[in-house]
Amino acid sequence: MNINILMVVACALLSGVSADENRQERVPAKGFAVYEEKGSFQPFEFTRRAVGDGDVQIEILYAGICHSDLHHVRSEWGKEEYPMVPGHEIVGRVVGVGKDVTSFKVGDMAGVGCMVDSCSECPACVAHKEQYCKDVVLTYHSHDRFHGNELTQGGYSDRIVVAEKFAVKIPQGAHLEKVAPLLCAGITTYSPLRYAGVKKGDKVGVAGFGGLGHMAVQYAVALGAEVTVFDVSEEKRGAASELGAVRYVNVNKPSDFQGLDGSFDFIISTIPSGYDPAMYLKMLKMDGQMAIVGLPAFDKMPTISLASLIFQGNRKVFGSQIGGIRETQEMLDYSVENGIYPWVEMIEADAAAIDEAYRKVLDGAVKFRYVIDMKTMK
Ligand code: NDP
Ligand code: ZN
Repeated sequence: MNINILMVVACALLSGVSADENRQERVPAKGFAVYEEKGSFQPFEFTRRAVGDGDVQIEILYAGICHSDLHHVRSEWGKEEYPMVPGHEIVGRVVGVGKDVTSFKVGDMAGVGCMVDSCSECPACVAHKEQYCKDVVLTYHSHDRFHGNELTQGGYSDRIVVAEKFAVKIPQGAHLEKVAPLLCAGITTYSPLRYAGVKKGDKVGVAGFGGLGHMAVQYAVALGAEVTVFDVSEEKRGAASELGAVRYVNVNKPSDFQGLDGSFDFIISTIPSGYDPAMYLKMLKMDGQMAIVGLPAFDKMPTISLASLIFQGNRKVFGSQIGGIRETQEMLDYSVENGIYPWVEMIEADAAAIDEAYRKVLDGAVKFRYVIDMKTMK
């Protein structure tokens, strides 16, 4: 008997409910977890909360691997708790609904991104920006205040239970195997492009051309912008042009920067490691805007000096975290309608395959997003 089942039995005894009844209510799940900081993946069995009246239970078909998963697994944003099942780019089929659920029925396709609950009442929630709710429950490794404070576990698993309002509808005709990364990489880039009001003819820079960056390029091109990509090597030059970028800057080649100072209306940084943000600030036009979404490890966190903000004055720098649920649905509908999808490499639901994918993300060898085919889990 594993520790989770023991806990269910203990809770059941304390609450006077028979162990059998309670065990039936909680949803058994299996997936892949790391058991220690920077550890490798291992099979993991656990249970999820029972399906409440307003919840949907989803059988997970696909789970994307985001660089944020690597930051979490490696405790790069602060000490984490283990075992940890990462994964916040989730697509699957609804296999159960609570009695009050109105927007999903069994058999529907649904997506889950980075969050699974929030307070619904604070100014952020009222403004449909649940990601900024102080009580937001993240899809994994967040203590779920609304469900006994249990630790959430993510999408590298076979099923998940979420509040109906945190599941999005997958539009008819979507290429299912490519949809999962839209739930994080898609919305995280779509949202600041919209917030900044990027429009036809704008000059847009995309710094960091990976999972997020290649989505940013596609959205900016679709909005009619002229796009320049910044990345660290020569290897992705061809892909940038294939996705519609007009220029590619290898940041290790000083000559590539010629003529770029003061030339961009908008720059988005998706860079996951140390860099100097001031070098991008000076490439903004007057009144230009820079959105920061890449979040490097805390011990390598870049800073920006007041002097560079003042001497490059009247440019705006803002941070942005994913996007609200309503905007996530809008982004999904927009992406499918316009044929905007990530480039994905499918991998098997196997611990060694996930380890290997992590190594390739770190080495810059991924083009551009790994998606785990959860249906292949043994
Ligand atoms: P990827 O690893 O897929 O892509 C990052 C890209 O940036 C790679 O192409 C990498 O090149 C490139 N890069 C690295 N260093 C530099 C540099 N100094 N200058 C230019 N390019 C560079 O990561 P993701 O796209 O999945 O995630 C990016 C970041 O965004 C992560 O920090 C992640 O945690 C964060 N994130 C933030 C969210 C938010 O809500 N704000 C949501 C989701 C993710 P190479 O691989 O060759 O090293
Ligand atoms: Zn992510």
